[in-house]
Amino acid sequence: MAMKMPTVQKCSVSDCAYNTEQACHALAITIGEKPSDPLCDTFFTSSKHGGIKEATAGVGACKSFDCSFNRDYECTASSIQVGMKQSQPDCLTFQRR
Ligand code: SF4
Repeated sequence: MAMKMPTVQKCSVSDCAYNTEQACHALAITIGEKPSDPLCDTFFTSSKHGGIKEATAGVGACKSFDCSFNRDYECTASSIQVGMKQSQPDCLTFQRR
């Protein structure tokens, strides 16, 4: 079955090395630390900027199995948004099953 990688439509985590102007420039990100915790695993801080300026990140994998968009540890949403929630960078599109 062909599946399209969901895009990261917006990311407001401005102190991440991959972020410029509310956009994530990693090629793909991984979400989820635990089944119910949609943390962005790709987030990290660095004095050097990372990623590819022309690219908009996709969701390569998601371990948050408790989300209704999650199927076999892949995200089926058309796009997601990432932002700070309870002081951690989270997938804001997460919807508990
Ligand atoms: S919407 Fe759900 S399945 Fe998709 S990345 Fe976010 S937490 Fe994972």
